[in-house]
Amino acid sequence: MKGVTVIAHPLVQHNLTRLRDKRTQPLEFRRLLGEIASLMLYEATRSFAVRSVSVETPLATARGSRLEREVVLVPVLRAGLGMLDSILQLIPHARVGFIGLKREETTLRAQFYHKSLPNNLGRFEVILIDPMLATGGSAVAALDLLAEQGARHVRLVNLVAAPEGVRLVQKNYPRVPIFTAAIDRRLNDKGYILPGLGDAGDRLFGT
Ligand code: URA
Repeated sequence: MKGVTVIAHPLVQHNLTRLRDKRTQPLEFRRLLGEIASLMLYEATRSFAVRSVSVETPLATARGSRLEREVVLVPVLRAGLGMLDSILQLIPHARVGFIGLKREETTLRAQFYHKSLPNNLGRFEVILIDPMLATGGSAVAALDLLAEQGARHVRLVNLVAAPEGVRLVQKNYPRVPIFTAAIDRRLNDKGYILPGLGDAGDRLFGT
């Protein structure tokens, strides 16, 4: 699918398979999700804008590069928290915003219960983190909020995506690149991804 990068790296796929396994318990699930998030981040940040700079080594001047923009990570609560710590290990200078969204049970529509974002989002590289891209309703609501706050450089990192969710995001935000470890078959009638891995938040936190 155009605009979607499926990260086929063997370590990512190995971990994803263990995450899908219903026997994987929260302790192991948290560890695997953290590992996979770090691996995916390399790919998701590959196109970050950089600026050429020079630096003095103890011996001479070298050409180098610096990130053009500051980074803000925006995990969607609560499952996005499972990818946050390991991404912060890679980008420790990043700021962190939070978006709390829940699905209204009958309509499956996304509702905000928490928003906290830095001001002037337009000057940041924004990484929106949500392990499951299901209907796409939450992702589009989160992207709407980011756009309202002025974000201009946004990428979406998911672990598992449903084709329905990818289509909805691309219809509304065709320029937002999506990074995922898998595009699964479809949604079931409750909006869960098939085969998916179940409810990512429940599996992470055991609740
Ligand atoms: N959220 C999840 O955690 N899992 C799904 O399959 C869909 C949405």
